[in-house]
Formats: sequence, structure tokens, C-alpha cells
Amino acid sequence: MVRTMDSIERVGVVGAGTMGSGIAQVAATNGYEVRMRDVEEGFVERGFESIDDSLERFVSKDRLSREEADAAVERITGTTDLADLADCDLVVEAALEEMDVKREVFADLDGIVDEDVALATNTSTLSITTIANATDRASRVVGLHFMNPVPIMEGVEVVVGERTDEETTALAHAFAEALGKTTWESDDKPGFVTNRILMPWINEGVRAFDEGVATREDVDAGMRLGTNVPMGPLELADHIGLDVCLNASRTLYEELGDRYKPAYLLKRKVEAGDLGKKSGRGFYEY
Ligand code: NAD
Repeated sequence: MVRTMDSIERVGVVGAGTMGSGIAQVAATNGYEVRMRDVEEGFVERGFESIDDSLERFVSKDRLSREEADAAVERITGTTDLADLADCDLVVEAALEEMDVKREVFADLDGIVDEDVALATNTSTLSITTIANATDRASRVVGLHFMNPVPIMEGVEVVVGERTDEETTALAHAFAEALGKTTWESDDKPGFVTNRILMPWINEGVRAFDEGVATREDVDAGMRLGTNVPMGPLELADHIGLDVCLNASRTLYEELGDRYKPAYLLKRKVEAGDLGKKSGRGFYEY
């Protein structure tokens, strides 16, 4: 049996990057105690800085009071020690999009948290079933795929692995809803619903720019104004992180073939350290 929704008070978040810090923030503003873990103190601090910046924007728009924002930050404890997540009632992993990293984190968590605690992964494309297989609780491992930026985006994709049980799937939906989100469900197939469709779109945008179809601005304007999406493929790639896009594209390419081959320029940018907004330069400068 998995620990039920009413007994969830403390939530562990693994990774304090773009997504981990957002998940920690949203859990805290909805009243949960949060333990946020990253591998280095500096990364944990950076996570707190983005939480502060985001909360500040909510306060300045009167969507949160100063007291609520301060109380949310108080509920988050940062750590570099995974063992500090031992008393958590649910854990959401948002570390790097690499199978070896995820499997190591899940194997370690399996030995740290109580056995009825569900372990969720925010993976963009990797197999929930393969990640779950690193634990002795595969039935309590589920995908909880938040969208970026987590505090703003309403949707969460619940991904059901081969061995995920119904209680854990229901818990994933209920937890996301308790954070004010709306969920949908995907089977554990590469990229799920969202990235299976989004990544080829981004890669085609990168190729259109790289092959001289249009300037970066016009590739984005064409898709924004022409199809009524809020961001074009290049600005969206910068927003997601080019390394995250490349890893996601590689998984889709490996599993699904040629039509998902990562664009050459995406690889070259990542090799140059131009990862998008988070490194100050991607397709645009920040
Ligand atoms: P990021 O690079 O911003 O942050 C990842 C963080 O994980 C880094 O701070 C890194 O130091 C940390 N980390 C690495 N190994 C760790 C470990 N063993 N324990 C704890 N922390 C560790 O990446 P991100 O964009 O936040 O992505 C995190 C996950 O969320 C990935 O699986 C990604 O595919 C997924 N995701 C990303 C987006 C997006 O738009 N960026 C959207 C949905 C899902």
C-alpha cells in the first residue's frame, strides 16, 4: 500500500534547478513542508534565489501576500544530503535528464525513505519503468511531469509505468491537484504526450534557423503569430534549457528513430555551453 494523500505533510524534492526549485515553491505555497536537495550548496542557494525571485513577482502582482510568501520560504529546508529526505511522505525527483543519474537517485532513495512512500520523477522522456526498476518498490514509482515554469503552468502529466499501481497513479493526480494543477495521463512511452510532439517541433525550428530559412526572430515570429502559440521554438528551447532539449531529443531518437534526430545546431550550442536562459546565452542573449 502506498502512503495516502491525507498523510502527506513533508515532500522531498531532488534537484534544485529550474524544475526542482519550482516544484519546491509550489509545494510550499500550498502548505507542505519541503526538503530540497541538490549536490552542491551553491546549487541549493541558486534554487532559493529563483524561488525568491518568483515569489517576489507573485507578491508584486498581488497574487500572494508578503506573509504567505515568507511563510512558504520558511517551509523549505535546503540540503546536499539525500538522507535528510528520510522523513518525507512523498518524493519528487527533478535531477538531470540522464538515466544513470535517475536510477542512482532512485536506488538511494529506496534505502532512505519508508517503504510505503511513493517516488515520483519529473523526467521529460525517460522510461518510468526503467527508473522504477532501480528500486524494490516499482509499483510506487510514477511520473509527475510538471511544466516550466512550474508556478505558472497549470498542467501536470501523470505518467504510468508498466508496474505503477492504481493507488500510486491516483495519488499522483491528487497531489498535483492539491498544488492547484490540472492533470492528464500518459502511458510510459518515449516523450509521453507532450515531449513526443514538442521536441520534433523544436528541432525543426532549430534546423529552419540553421539552414537559413529565416532569422531566429522570424522563425519564432512565424510560429508565434502564425499558429498562436505563446513562444516560438527557439525562445521556448532557451526557456527549457538546450541541454534538457538535447537529452530529451536523444532519448526520442534512440527509441523512435530518424524523425527525432537532434538538430546539429542544438548539439553545437550545448557543446559550447550555451544552454539558454540559465547560462545567459542560447539562441538569444539574456
Ligand atoms: P536543471 O539543469 O535546471 O537542474 C537540474 C539540477 O539537478 C541541477 O541543479 C543539478 O545540480 C541537480 N542534480 C544533478 N544530479 C543530482 C542528484 N544526484 N541529486 C540532486 N540533484 C542533482 O534541469 P531542469 O530543467 O530543472 O530539469 C530537471 C528534470 O526535469 C529533468 O529530468 C528534465 O528533463 C525535467 N523537465 C524539465 C523541464 C524544463 O522545461 N526545463 C520541463 C519538464 C521536465
